[in-house]
Amino acid sequence: MFIGCHLSSTKGFLAMGKTALSIGANTFAFFTRNPRGGSAKELDSEDAHALTELCKAEGFGPLVAHAPYTMNLCSADEGIRGFAADMLREDILRMEALPGNYYNFHPGSHTGQGVDVGIGFIAEALGSVLPLAEHTTILLETMAGKGSEVGRRFEELKEIIDRVEGTASVSPVQGAPAARLGVCIDTCHLHDGGYDIVHDLDAVLNEFDNIIGLDRLKACHLNDSMNDAGSRKDRHAKIGEGHIGLEALTAVINHPVLKNLPFILETPNELPGYAKEIALLRSLRQ
Ligand code: FE
Ligand code: FE
Ligand code: ZN
Repeated sequence: MFIGCHLSSTKGFLAMGKTALSIGANTFAFFTRNPRGGSAKELDSEDAHALTELCKAEGFGPLVAHAPYTMNLCSADEGIRGFAADMLREDILRMEALPGNYYNFHPGSHTGQGVDVGIGFIAEALGSVLPLAEHTTILLETMAGKGSEVGRRFEELKEIIDRVEGTASVSPVQGAPAARLGVCIDTCHLHDGGYDIVHDLDAVLNEFDNIIGLDRLKACHLNDSMNDAGSRKDRHAKIGEGHIGLEALTAVINHPVLKNLPFILETPNELPGYAKEIALLRSLRQ
């Protein structure tokens, strides 16, 4: 079972790998830069290579990097949109130094323009960077639907993928870059967004399969939720301490469709708390 949590990237790549090992993790997530945006440190390719070697030696699952929360590819503000597109391009080029891993991002908030306009901007930005992602799979995260967030419904993510596939800049010249576009589900976001993973996980996964296709499902953020189903709040709780609960989360990690995905905890914890949750979930793995 591949399980880990969000780690601080301030000490570099190899240090994150070692921290992961120290808490029983065999995958992890990290911000490609300050989560509130800003410029990224210069990439240390030796350090990146050392992490790649450690992951291989220790049998890690794919890593799931996370874009800054402020990266909004579909803002109504052209400046913000352009800044986000530059960030995305830079981050993808950096991820190429860690080949074979995932780069996850929040599709964005349409800030009043409507979902359809938002989806158009997101697809356009993705279409222009995907050809750069030769060794990286870009993941769209399912969202809780707070404010004007795009990506609460599977249909919205599917529409983004379809439009990227139809974009001239990702046409067959370089193979099929859209194949390097996937989805990362987040249990808190699904629950808060109105998908009943507590009582009918099978139905939710069937719906995902029918609309997007399970071949696009690449990673799972494993979080409990502080709020009721359908609340559209997006506040993560510790495993077993929220409205999703331990039983439903145990079903998630053991579900045949999900069990081989990398599971990333984004629960309100420091390292010792993460180590405990990882041990607990490993003990519940069937
Ligand atoms: Fe996220
Ligand atoms: Fe998440
Ligand atoms: Zn969240």
